Amino acid sequence: AKHKGKSAYHRFTPDLNQQSRERLKLETQLRKAIEQDELLLYYQPIVETANGQLVGAEALIRWDNPLLGLVAPDKFIPLAEETGLITSIGEWVLHTACRDVKKWHEDTGLKLTIAVNVSPRQFRDVKFIDTVMKALEVNDLAGEYLELEITERLLLDDSIETFEILHKLDAMGVKLSVDDFGTGYSALSYLKSYPFDSLKIDRSFVKDVNTEAEDAALVTAIITMAHSLGLKVIGEGVEDVAQMQFLRAKGCDYAQGYYYNRPVAESDFCNWISENRR
Ligand code: C2E
Ligand code: CA
Ligand code: CA
Ligand code: CA
Repeated sequence: AKHKGKSAYHRFTPDLNQQSRERLKLETQLRKAIEQDELLLYYQPIVETANGQLVGAEALIRWDNPLLGLVAPDKFIPLAEETGLITSIGEWVLHTACRDVKKWHEDTGLKLTIAVNVSPRQFRDVKFIDTVMKALEVNDLAGEYLELEITERLLLDDSIETFEILHKLDAMGVKLSVDDFGTGYSALSYLKSYPFDSLKIDRSFVKDVNTEAEDAALVTAIITMAHSLGLKVIGEGVEDVAQMQFLRAKGCDYAQGYYYNRPVAESDFCNWISENRR
């Protein structure tokens, strides 16, 4: 027993201790983030590739903590997933995004769509459908203006539950898109059984379309395939005019990226809308 105790001790190196303490601290602060009003949504425009016209935005969460500063989602969404906090955070995101897009409709008359990221644990929560319904209802928003982005990773398990949830959302008129398309290593067969409306081509493919023949071929093939299945295509991570022109030439329907605009706070997004209408 003594020996065992010793090896167990050795596994708790100071580094690990430090790591788990940091994690616990982050978790404690994240728990308080919602009630202390520290979460906010940034918005990034999604435009029509053919003419640059604004069609909507993707909501991207940020955490503004007095001690930590502005925390990027990659730093806390995985933790929120592990701890289950994602359920309440996701609910807050849905309500805030629906409220904001409704406001844009009223203020601008533009029928913009809001895209919201949904993580696996949130999607599988028994209350998820109700939460979506409530967010639409409370804000008097038609389902067609909400687009839920779901990663291929979530579709890997190919369960009857996934099938049912997606079809319920579709019946509510909500739009469904596959996020980070091409990175999930999943079979493509799900595209015919699930009611998706669009695919978002991952940034890693868009990045080198003008320098790597393979990436150009992949992006072209994805667009062709998506269109023949009746799906729209959104190019992600468009950073320069050459990438935009490539996507436009290949008939990619929509684009999003730093070339158009970085994700910005709601007030800046509104300013951007009014500037772009002039
Ligand atoms: P994502 O859904 O793939 O979102 C796109 C990410 O690419 C965003 O990072 C965005 O800021 C960034 N991006 C946009 N255009 C460009 C570009 O031209 N170049 C480059 N290099 N990057 C660009 P962000 O905001 O840090 O979000 C990271 C990830 O966190 C998202 O990836 C998404 O998976 C997750 N996430 C964000 N908000 C939420 C949320 O509300 N709920 C959940 N569950 N996940 C979220
Ligand atoms: Ca996304
Ligand atoms: Ca649909
Ligand atoms: Ca993405």
